[in-house]
Amino acid sequence: MGERSRIRIEIEGVVQGVGFRPWVYRLAHEYGLTGWVTNSKRGVEIEVEGSEASRSAFLAALQTPPPLARIDRQTVRDASPKNGDPTEFVILRSDNGSADEITPVTPDAAICADCLRELFDPTDRRYRYPFITCTHCGPRFSIVTGVPYDRPQTTMASFPLCTDCSAEYQNPLDRRFHAQPIACATCGPHISLRNADGSTMTVSDPISAVIGRLESGEIVAVKGIGGYHLACDAFNAEACNRLRKSKLREEKPFAIMVRDLLVAREIACVSTEAERILESPQAPIVIAPKRIASEAMEAIAPSNRTIGIMLPYSPIHHLLFHDARFRALVMTSGNRHDEPICFEDDDALLRLRGIADCFLVHNRPIHVRVDDSVVQMTQCGAVPVRRSRGYAPAPIRLNTRLNRPVLAVGAMLKHTFALGVGDRAYVSQHIGDLENAATWRSFVDGVARYEKLTGIEPDLVAHDLHPDYLSTQYAEQLGIRTVPVQHHHAHIASCVADAGYDGPVIGLAFDGTGYGDDGTLWGGEWLLVDGENCERVGRLRTLRLPGGENGIREPWRIGASMLETVFDDSWRDYRLPIERFFANDEWSKLRRYMNDTTLTPATSAVGRLFDGISAIAGVRGAISYEGQAAIEFEQIHDIAADGAYPFVVRRSNGRHELDWEPMVHAFVDDLVNKQTIGAVSTRFHRGLATVVADITEQIGRDTGITACALSGGVFQNALLLELLVPLLRMRGCRVLIHREVPPNDGGVSLGQLVIAGRKTR
Ligand code: ZN
Ligand code: ZN
Ligand code: FE
Repeated sequence: MGERSRIRIEIEGVVQGVGFRPWVYRLAHEYGLTGWVTNSKRGVEIEVEGSEASRSAFLAALQTPPPLARIDRQTVRDASPKNGDPTEFVILRSDNGSADEITPVTPDAAICADCLRELFDPTDRRYRYPFITCTHCGPRFSIVTGVPYDRPQTTMASFPLCTDCSAEYQNPLDRRFHAQPIACATCGPHISLRNADGSTMTVSDPISAVIGRLESGEIVAVKGIGGYHLACDAFNAEACNRLRKSKLREEKPFAIMVRDLLVAREIACVSTEAERILESPQAPIVIAPKRIASEAMEAIAPSNRTIGIMLPYSPIHHLLFHDARFRALVMTSGNRHDEPICFEDDDALLRLRGIADCFLVHNRPIHVRVDDSVVQMTQCGAVPVRRSRGYAPAPIRLNTRLNRPVLAVGAMLKHTFALGVGDRAYVSQHIGDLENAATWRSFVDGVARYEKLTGIEPDLVAHDLHPDYLSTQYAEQLGIRTVPVQHHHAHIASCVADAGYDGPVIGLAFDGTGYGDDGTLWGGEWLLVDGENCERVGRLRTLRLPGGENGIREPWRIGASMLETVFDDSWRDYRLPIERFFANDEWSKLRRYMNDTTLTPATSAVGRLFDGISAIAGVRGAISYEGQAAIEFEQIHDIAADGAYPFVVRRSNGRHELDWEPMVHAFVDDLVNKQTIGAVSTRFHRGLATVVADITEQIGRDTGITACALSGGVFQNALLLELLVPLLRMRGCRVLIHREVPPNDGGVSLGQLVIAGRKTR
C-alpha cells in the first residue's frame, strides 16, 4: 500500500444545487478516502486523504459528474493534514453566514429517469405524485425567492418536510439529499381543477378529469414549471382552430408536446441530434421539418413547413400522457396575443378566462416567469431561437475577462439582459418584447433578482444606441457609468463570445432595423470587429420605409417602395401579386412622401429586404408577428428549382455596397412569366447567399481576416444559413454561428456585456 497523503481539489462550474457534494461523498466512501467536501464561493472544495491509487481513481471518477453538473475548471494541489481533521469523509456545511457566499441557482430541469420510474411504480411512496423531484431534476430557478439557495428561500417554504421526506433530505447516500424542492403527497403541494370561471371543481382525480376533457376537444390551461400553457389535442383540428381563434387570431405557430420520441418521429423529421436535445434536461422546443400535413397541423403552424415539438418535462405532463388516448398536445404559452405568458394564478384565471374551458392548477407558486426555450435544427447544427427555461441562469463562460462588474440591458424585442464579471456572463431568461407593463416589470425585477442571485453589483451599464428603447432609458437613470454600444456591433460580439473565439472577425450583421452610429437604421452590415473596435466595411443598398418603423407591420409598403425605386410608377402595369395587399389611395398617399427622409427613412436592414420581396411575391402583405413575411417566404421555397438572381456589388471609398436592383428586375420577370413562388424564393435565397459570400471573400482578401461571424435575426432563416455557410467555408472562411444565445435580439445583451467590459479595461 502506498503512502497516505492528502490533496485539495477546487472545482468551478455548475456544481452547486445539482447533487454534486453527495455524489463526491459517495465516491470518497467507495474509494475509502477520508476528508471533506464543501461549497465555496467559486464552486466546490474537496480534500481527500488516502493511498496514491485510491486518490487517482477518485480523481478519474470526478471527471464524469452527475447529470445536471458541469465542471468548467479544476485545480489539484497537495494539502497537509491538520489537527481535528475528520477520520471519515464528511460533507461540511457551507458557511451560509458570510455575506459573500453565493450559491448559484441552477436552471429548471426536466424530470429524471429515476423519478419517472418512481412516478409510475405503484409500490413507490410517490406513485403518481405530480411534484416528484430529486437532486437531479425538477424546478429550481423558477421557484427561488432569494439567496442562499435553500428551501426557506424557495416557493416550497410553506411546505415543511414530513418525517419520511426529511429523512431522505438528511441522508447523504439518498438521491434526495439536500434537494430543496422535494415533497410527497403527505407534505407537499397538490393539484386541483378549476372551472372556466375560475371556481374550484371537486373531482376525485383532477388528472383523469383533465384527460377526459382534452379527449373531448376542450382547451385546458395547465400550470407548468415557468408559466401556464394552453393545451388541446393536437390531432383535433376543431380544437386547434378554436384555440387559435380565442387567442385573437394570432398566426404564430403553436408548439406541441408529444408523448414520446415515437410520436415525435411520426410528426417531424427528427435527427439524432434533435432527439438528443429533446431528451436533454433542458427539454426545449425543437423546431424541425413537419412530416405530416393535416387540417390540425395547418391550424398549429399555418403556412409553415416546420413544427416546434417538445417532450413532456414535468411529472404533470407525464401523468397527462400516461393514460390518455391523445398522443400530442398543443402546448402554447398561456397568454393573449402579444402579452407575456401568465405565471401567477390569479392573473392566469383572469387573463385566460374565455379561452380555457378549465384550469389544471396547483399550489406550488411559480416565482418568476420562464418561457419554454426554443432551438432550431438546421444543416449547420442546432441554433438557439429563445434561451430560457432549462438554460437560464447558467453562466456562459467568456474567452475574455471583464475586469469590472457589468450590466448589459439588451435591446427591446425578444429582450434579455446580462450581468457579468470575470469570465462569467449570466444572460437572463427570455423577458419578451419590452413594450408593456408586464415585461417591463419582469425586466426591472429580473435585474434586481440576478444581482442578488449572482452577487454581482454592476458599476457599469451597457445599452443600445437607440434613444427610444426603454432599456436605454432604464440604463440612463441608474446613476452609474453608461457605455452605449451599437446594436450590430453587439450582435457580432455576441456571436464571437458565443463561439468562444478570440481575434478579429468579419461580422455579417443581418437583422431587422437597429440604430446605426450615424443615426440611420442599419441591419445589413459587414463589420470588422476586433473586441471593442468596430468598422463598417460594407452594407446593403438602402431601402425606403414608407411610414417609418411603424410601417414594419405592413411589408407591402417596402415592396411597393422597392418597385418604385426600380421602375418608377410603371410597375403598376405589371399587375404583380402585391397589388392585392393595398388600396390605390393608400399607396398614393404614402408615395407622396417617398422623398421625405423623416416620413420615409432609409434602412440597410436585410430583414426589410426579405419583407419587401415577400410582399412583391404576394406571400405576405401584413404581418401579425415579427419576421412573419420573411419566414413564410423562406418556407415556401422549392429547393429543386434552379437558378439564382443577380445582385451587383459596388465599391466606394473602400466600402462595399450590395445592390438589389438587378435582382428586382429578374424577380419581376419571373413573376410576370408565371414562375412558381417556390422557384422565385429559391432563386432569391441562392442569389443572395452567393453575393454575400463574394463580398465576404473580398473583404477577407483585403484585410487578411479569415474568420466571419453570422449574427442578427435574419440568420434564423435556415435556408439562407444552409446556402451561405458552405459557400463561405469553400472560400476558406472559418464561420462562427450562434450556439448558446440566439442570433436574434435575445443575444444582444451578451455582446453589449463583452464590449463594455473591454472598452473599460
Ligand atoms: Zn429526479
Ligand atoms: Zn413528504
Ligand atoms: Fe437586432
